[in-house]
Formats: sequence, structure tokens, C-alpha cells
Amino acid sequence: MHALVVGGGIAGTTTAIALAKAGIDATVHEAHDRDSEGVGGWLTLASNGIDALATLGLGAEVTAHGHPTRTMRLSNHTGRVLAEFPMAPERPDGLKVHTVRRCDLHRVLRAAATARAIPVRFGKRLVDATPRPGGGVIARFADGDHVEADLLVGADGLRSAVRTIIDPAAPAARYTGLLNTGGYATGATLPPRFRADPGVIEFCFGRNCFLGYTLAPDSSIWWFANPAARQKLGRAELAAISEDDWRRRLHALFAGDELPAATLVDGSAHIFAGWNTYDFPTVRTWHRDDMIIVGDAAHAASPASGQGASMAIEDAVTLARCLRDSTSVPAAFAGYESLRRARVEKVVEQGRRNGTGKTAGPIARVIRDRVIMPMVASRAARTGASPSEWLFGHHIDWETPVRATPRP
Ligand SMILES: Cc1cc2nc3c(=O)[nH]c(=O)nc-3n(C[C@H](O)[C@H](O)[C@H](O)COP(=O)(O)OP(=O)(O)OC[C@H]3O[C@@H](n4cnc5c(N)ncnc54)[C@H](O)[C@@H]3O)c2cc1C
Repeated sequence: MHALVVGGGIAGTTTAIALAKAGIDATVHEAHDRDSEGVGGWLTLASNGIDALATLGLGAEVTAHGHPTRTMRLSNHTGRVLAEFPMAPERPDGLKVHTVRRCDLHRVLRAAATARAIPVRFGKRLVDATPRPGGGVIARFADGDHVEADLLVGADGLRSAVRTIIDPAAPAARYTGLLNTGGYATGATLPPRFRADPGVIEFCFGRNCFLGYTLAPDSSIWWFANPAARQKLGRAELAAISEDDWRRRLHALFAGDELPAATLVDGSAHIFAGWNTYDFPTVRTWHRDDMIIVGDAAHAASPASGQGASMAIEDAVTLARCLRDSTSVPAAFAGYESLRRARVEKVVEQGRRNGTGKTAGPIARVIRDRVIMPMVASRAARTGASPSEWLFGHHIDWETPVRATPRP
């Protein structure tokens, strides 16, 4: 069986690796003409995502590039701590949430693909795919090339071409009302009350902009900022915002807040090029014939979920298991959907709720600081953990055969 994986990001590269483990050949076709080395910001890789990576023998290798992140601390614009609680419940296997640069995660995955002799073809933008008579798929690329395969996995991200090939009525991603930028501050000295502690991720509700930061082992401080913007910005508009423009905007957005944003901005040699943040309420159709979508193409969660990469990795391992154990590709896809849909849609919804609190107006701020956060803090103190066992405790049992239960 040969699989064509469209998209060489986190979902696509992991899918090809997982398929190789299941004994299925895969070729990755990536639209960009080169690797995304050095591109992107940082993300939290949840313990459930690390568990899925460990199935592929890559858990320790990835976490060696990051640092464990045990605690989340929330503050308001005055720097007053509103709540502090564990990132995730303790797992019996000791796996912990880690913070990693997206490019480091991607580099480990690319090296693992190379070590498994998985071909990755760059400069291959999929433009169309049709069922092959008798089964399989014929895929066509922008450069005029075409490829035949027994199945096609669309891991082509938020603006997935495969999604609309499968279902021309598929929804577009939903803009969440937030922009995103950030940087790596080196040599920034924060005032003692804002000192970043190892293992803690700080989330600060500025009045006009949300700020997150965490201390890396080399003493640099990794940060991001989410300016609220009613309308999403077009590609050209985003590209037109220079690093200096971002510095000016961020200074203005945090002016009057007692947060260390200016120190982080000034201490960073570069500011990430900004991007809009999106999620998907629901994508009704994930597969048709021998084509399926995974990762952000199927179910992007807002960055506030902290689960996008982890969900993509879980998808990859689950799809490979289903293909290994099913009698046909459509049966494998149906089994995959029955194992994944409810879980990923719950994560998308949770990410939407987390993200909404980032843009509170004056009244909502008071309710948040005086009512909601004290409740959250006291619940965390009572239970000693977040209630998200279902999320962070997830384990994919690779060895056990899948009993696929197709959707009715
Ligand atoms: C600001 C921000 C913060 C985030 N924070 C977190 C976090 O804390 N924790 C977390 O787990 N996740 C986080 N995420 C999400 C995470 O990065 C993604 O969810 C994850 O990488 C899965 O992506 P993917 O591989 O499905 O898509 P992508 O990474 O978008 O990859 C898609 C690939 O497909 C290629 N492609 C697109 N179209 C075509 C085509 N037609 N033909 C061929 N190739 C194509 C693209 O070039 C790209 O390489 C965050 C995301 C953002 C934006």
C-alpha cells in the first residue's frame, strides 16, 4: 500500500513516520520549496502529544529540545496574580507538558523521516485529486506533475486544498479575533515581581493585549503577545508590518499596564512576523473515497488550547493504527473518525473558551478578576490538579488491534 501525504508540517511528517511503523509506504509532498528551518514560534507540547510521539520512539528526542512546563500562572494588567495551577494532571508514566520551539519539533520529525527513508518532495503544491478507477487516488500538482497512490492524506493545514476537494462545501477556518506575534528575549532582566520561574508559564491579561512568557534553560525568555483585532489582516497587510512597527505597536498596547512586556520586546533581537489566529467549529466531512484530512486541515484548535500540535500527532498515530488493522481504506477512515472526532471537537471548544477571556472589556475584567479567577484558583487548590485528565492522560495503545466502529 502506498500513501501520498500532502503537507510536510507537523501532521504530515508525523503521519508518514507512523505509517512507516504500520508497514505502509508514504511519500510527503510539500508546497514550499524548502524546509521550514528556523520558521515559527514556540508551543506547548502536551503530555498526551508526547505520549503519542513516544509510540514512534521520538518522545525523549523531542523533549530534549524543550523544557518541562509544570505550572500556569495568570495575572491581570497590574501584575496581580489571579490564579496558579498545574498545566496538567500528573501521569503515572511521568510524562510532562514541555515547551518547545516549533522548528525544533519539526527538525526532529524531519530527521526521523529521513532516517526511515521517507521521501519528502518540496515545491509540490497539490491542486486537485480524483478517485482512480478501481480504487486509489490521482493527485495533480501546480507544476503539472501528477502522482497515483492507494490513499491520500491531506495534512495541508488551515487552508487545506484537500478539505475542499473532499467536500467543496467545507467551511473555512474561523478567525478568533486575535493576532499573534512574539520573540525570544535574551539578557532581559525582569523586575523581581515578574521574575520568570523555571517550569512556570506566565499568562497576563493586559488591558489591550494578552501576554505569555516562560523562562528557557539558557535564561532567554520566550514570549508571545495576542493583540485583539476585530478584522483579520490580509497577507500583504501582515507582511507590511515591520519588526519596528511591531515594537511600536506593542509598546503602545501595553502602555499603562504594569507588565514586563516592554522589557521583553526591547530584549528581543527579532519579533516574529505576525499572523491571524483561527480555529474550526466543525468540519463535517473528513474523508471521501480514499482521501482523508488530518491535523489543522480537519480540526484546528485556537492556540489558546495548547493542543494543536499534540492533536496532529495523535491523529497521525491513530490513523496509522486504523490503516494497519482495517480490511479496506474506507473502513480504516471510518474507524479513525469514530476514534477522533468527539475528542478533537472537545479540544476545539475548550480552546475557543480559553481564547475568549483574552479580550475582556472593563466589566468582564472585573468579573474575571473578582469572581471567575478566585473560583478557578480555589478549585485548583482543592483538587490539586486541573480537571483535564481526559485530555492530558490520553494514551494510544499501539499494540492492541483497533476494533473500528464506523459511523452509523
Ligand atoms: C500562534 C500559534 C500558537 C500555537 N501554539 C500551540 C501550542 O501551544 N501547542 C500546540 O500543540 N499547538 C500550537 N499551535 C498549533 C500547531 O502549530 C499546529 O496545530 C500543528 O503544527 C499542526 O499543524 P499541521 O501540520 O496540521 O499544519 P501546518 O503546520 O500548517 O502544516 C501544513 C503544511 O502543509 C503545506 N501545504 C499547504 N497547502 C498545501 C498544498 N496544497 N500542497 C502541498 N502542501 C501544502 C504547508 O506548506 C505546511 O507545510 C499553535 C499555532 C499557532 C499559529
